[in-house]
Amino acid sequence: MNVTQIKHMTFAVRDVDASLAAYKRLLGVPESVQVKEFSKSRNRAAVFDLGGVEFQITQSMDPDGRFASWIAQRGHEGLHHICYAVDDIEVALAEAQANGATLKECSACKVTGSHIHPEGWVAFLQDEVSGTEIEFMQVYKEGEGGDRPQGV
Ligand SMILES: [Zn+2]
Repeated sequence: MNVTQIKHMTFAVRDVDASLAAYKRLLGVPESVQVKEFSKSRNRAAVFDLGGVEFQITQSMDPDGRFASWIAQRGHEGLHHICYAVDDIEVALAEAQANGATLKECSACKVTGSHIHPEGWVAFLQDEVSGTEIEFMQVYKEGEGGDRPQGV
C-alpha cells in the first residue's frame, strides 16, 4: 500500500471547549474556529488545520460514546486515531488483512470495511499502532464522491 498523506488526526477529549481554547492559546489556532455538534455520530468537535494536517478534537455527547469510553478505558485524553490517505483503499485493506489486520465497524455508519464518507471512501482497523487506531481514506477525485452528510 502507499500512504500518501495524513488526512486527519482525531483526539478524544473530555471537554472540547476547554481543549479548543488551549489550541487557540498555545498553538495559534484562529479565534474563528468553532465547536460543532454532529448529531448522527453524537459528538461535539472542533475541526481545524494545524501545520498542514486536519485536527479533529472530539468529545462524545453521551457517557458511553465512542470517545468517552476510549478515555474511560485509558484514563486520559489522547490521540484516538490517525486517518491515513491511501491511493487505493481496497489494496490497502487487502494488504493489511493479509498481514493479520481485522476490520472494525465505523461507529457512525455501522459499516465494516470501505464505505462512503463526505471526503472519500474510509475503513477502520481493529489493530492499533502505538496505541492509536488506524483509519484509511481513499480521497475522492474530481467526479467521484459521497452524497451523504456525515459527522466525524
Ligand atoms: Zn463511516
